[in-house]
Amino acid sequence: MTMRDLGTIAAEERACRKAWSAAPNATHAWHCHHDDLVEDLHDPAEDRINYIVRGKPVEEQAFRLRLFRPVRDDTVAPAWKVYDDTVAPAWKVYDDTVASARKVRDDTVAPARKVRDDTVAPAHCAECDPDCPWK
Ligand SMILES: [Zn+2]
Repeated sequence: MTMRDLGTIAAEERACRKAWSAAPNATHAWHCHHDDLVEDLHDPAEDRINYIVRGKPVEEQAFRLRLFRPVRDDTVAPAWKVYDDTVAPAWKVYDDTVASARKVRDDTVAPARKVRDDTVAPAHCAECDPDCPWK
């Protein structure tokens, strides 16, 4: 990731906060996450800025702060809605399928794990450290 005239992290953070404070009613953001061009805001922009400067790798911070900006053009929100209405059913199927698969997995793994652990408990007690928290 390179960008011409990229400032220090502090300078990019100031510019980012300034852009967001100038658009207090923004509902969408450019480059909230690296893999999506535009997203609707679920949390205050401040939260994302704080996360970038506290949680993202230092070498990415200035770049992310430069690109994370409020959407000002009023054609973007309707385009987002068309997109969201289109993908929402697919996400519901995905979420339901994952939840169902997770239940099958958990219902199988938990009892099998208990049988395994009960079976190997004597060997574990004999071989592992006396202070092992698994005992
Ligand atoms: Zn142990």
